Amino acid sequence: MNRVLLLNPPAKNNLQRDFLCSSSSKADYYWPPIDLIVLSGLLKEFEVRVIDAVASKISNRETLSKIKAMNPDSIICLVSSIGFNEEMSFLKNVKDSLQNSRIILIGDIAFFEKEKVIKNKFVDAILLDFTSHQIIEYLKNPENKKIKDICYKLGSAVVFNGVLKSSEFSYGMANLELFNLNSYSIPYSIHKKIAPILFNYGCPYKCSFCASGNIGYKIRNLSESKQEIMHLYKKGFKEIFIRDFNFTTNKAFVMDICTFIIKNNIKISWSCEGRVDNVDRESLQLMKKAGCYLIFFGVESGKQERLDSFQKRTSITQIKKVFGLCREIGIKTLASFVLALPGDTMEDIMATINLSKEIEADYASFNLYVPRYGSDLRKKLEKNSELDLNSRFDSSKEFINLTSLSEEEILNLYRYAIKSFYFRLPYLAKQAISMRTWFQFKTHLLNGLSLFKKSLK
Ligand code: SF4
Repeated sequence: MNRVLLLNPPAKNNLQRDFLCSSSSKADYYWPPIDLIVLSGLLKEFEVRVIDAVASKISNRETLSKIKAMNPDSIICLVSSIGFNEEMSFLKNVKDSLQNSRIILIGDIAFFEKEKVIKNKFVDAILLDFTSHQIIEYLKNPENKKIKDICYKLGSAVVFNGVLKSSEFSYGMANLELFNLNSYSIPYSIHKKIAPILFNYGCPYKCSFCASGNIGYKIRNLSESKQEIMHLYKKGFKEIFIRDFNFTTNKAFVMDICTFIIKNNIKISWSCEGRVDNVDRESLQLMKKAGCYLIFFGVESGKQERLDSFQKRTSITQIKKVFGLCREIGIKTLASFVLALPGDTMEDIMATINLSKEIEADYASFNLYVPRYGSDLRKKLEKNSELDLNSRFDSSKEFINLTSLSEEEILNLYRYAIKSFYFRLPYLAKQAISMRTWFQFKTHLLNGLSLFKKSLK
């Protein structure tokens, strides 16, 4: 039988490499890599094993010896723009030890620079869409010349037959038993063991600083989505982590899923990401009733002109309205902001920091601008030969300064944003009172301490 290893290779930090995006976790959390979760469902007819060296905190040596012991026919491995050099040297060692194992990569840099990455001697293929059933055909017969969604080597030639266009995807049920779910966490979760799930692949929007709109967009088969929710509930999961970039994109789908959960009396908590322009009172009320306890919104900036110039297509009015609605309905909010977007002034950054408090978000994630692989803004910046974009930017600790402020001023504003948001007595009291489980309290405390240390650096 074809043995397949799904691998998240070792990394120095808590490097998240899933969903064609990479960054280190900002505090003490590490979520399950959705690409490998989806593949665990798709590849049921193979003998599949999983090594998540980051979540299990195991070294290069230990990971290598585990891989050797498994002796897989194929290794599907996550890679990232941030850790690429280390990942390549690790994979070279793997290939030196197991010359007959095929190495297939997934990740931001592999997707957006496939022509360069496939040239590495020990790379056999690049999987461009982890929801694609074409991977099954490839694993069964890597000599097949007609495979799509994969860039692969056939002898000395590189074959790329393009991508399959589809508005829907399916992956059966993820085989969560292959993963040590106790080793993952999200910073705001209520329960220890969370079940990751995917309903939307990619994103239909095109915010210029983000690459997610450039990987395509499709939605999961509705009936399969419902089946998996029921399956997870019957398995005893108390919490679902919806990993979509935007669960709320298709209102009819959201309403259908929520109605299914309510009608079947499924008692399960869940969190998701959404956009302020595609939720309203009706959908938020239904989401709350169906167990939604938190929505992550990409707010990005406190200035309308800045939102417009990066094609966010949301408004400050919508942001204020939706955060107010969530508060009223009882859904917690996480607002994500980008400080020091190209061209931001001190006034723009202060407007963003002030908005984080004005909308009374329950959590705020402050990020400094990095040119994400595959984003339209990065492509534009690449035309400016004076900029060095070769550094492996990790948005949790690095940034590129494309403003008229000094780096020191930006870092001071970043620290101020964290301190002024999180270290307010009324805020801390409100959060402490709202904790629903001891686990949630402990997770908040650990992540809070991590953030505090970070704000002092
Ligand atoms: S920022 Fe959000 S809405 Fe915009 S392209 Fe990225 S994932 Fe889509």
